[in-house]
Amino acid sequence: MGLLDRGVEIKAPEQIDAMRRAGLVVGETLEILRGAVRAGISTRELDAIAEDSIRGRGATPSFLGYEGFTGSICASVNDEVVHGIPGDRVLAAGDVISIDCGAIVDGWHGDAAISVAVGEVPAEVTTLMEVTEGAMWRGIAAARLGGRVTDISHAVEGFVKRSGRYGIVEDYVGHGIGSAMHQPPNVPNFGRAGKGPKIVEGLALAIEPMITLGTKETVVLDDDWTVITTDGSYAAHFEHTMTVTSSGVWVLTAIDGGEEMLAKLGVPFGGR
Ligand code: MG
Ligand code: MG
Repeated sequence: MGLLDRGVEIKAPEQIDAMRRAGLVVGETLEILRGAVRAGISTRELDAIAEDSIRGRGATPSFLGYEGFTGSICASVNDEVVHGIPGDRVLAAGDVISIDCGAIVDGWHGDAAISVAVGEVPAEVTTLMEVTEGAMWRGIAAARLGGRVTDISHAVEGFVKRSGRYGIVEDYVGHGIGSAMHQPPNVPNFGRAGKGPKIVEGLALAIEPMITLGTKETVVLDDDWTVITTDGSYAAHFEHTMTVTSSGVWVLTAIDGGEEMLAKLGVPFGGR
């Protein structure tokens, strides 16, 4: 409990348990949204589904009203990387949509994102999504007690680079999370291992690689929110909120707590 050096918030076990409840709301909501994505649906309709799901589970949307944001999700399509505003845009076959979602339970936040193909997409887009999700899991799996935050960054970057030629967005990064959605420390998706705050029990992090088929360069649209790739290339984005307990890694926004993927990656599961 309380604040350690550099403003990192360390949560008590019962506070992590509240974050798990928020994380389940987010995870379940994203699964509903994954099932709702289809050609012909608007991002505003997806947003309404999300808000209903979050409130129906007794939680509050983190994003709605955040610095004036008007949605309960961010809906970012094709060359939009993150922070797309739900609206009139209607999805079409061949699109890829990133849906980012946050929920608050008893003052504690969960934050996660998925990228979903709309119908058939080119093979390179499917691979882009697989590389981005794989990089997120490699980052999560690199977290251990006594390690450092950039061990995660290095693992994300390493997986992407081993997978081929992609742009790793540097303008936006993962983050600490807890009693606020965005807290120190930053969790970049690139860089050397062994830097940044020590990974201790009670630290919670949102790990969220944003990967493109082109360069890493991004620009913000005139709506002051939507981040697009400068070169127009498609982007993918996956995110989970996670923590490390004395027994292993616990992915708070994964419905199974991350148990299945962590087992594949040889990492002890730390959920309770
Ligand atoms: Mg997010
Ligand atoms: Mg986030």
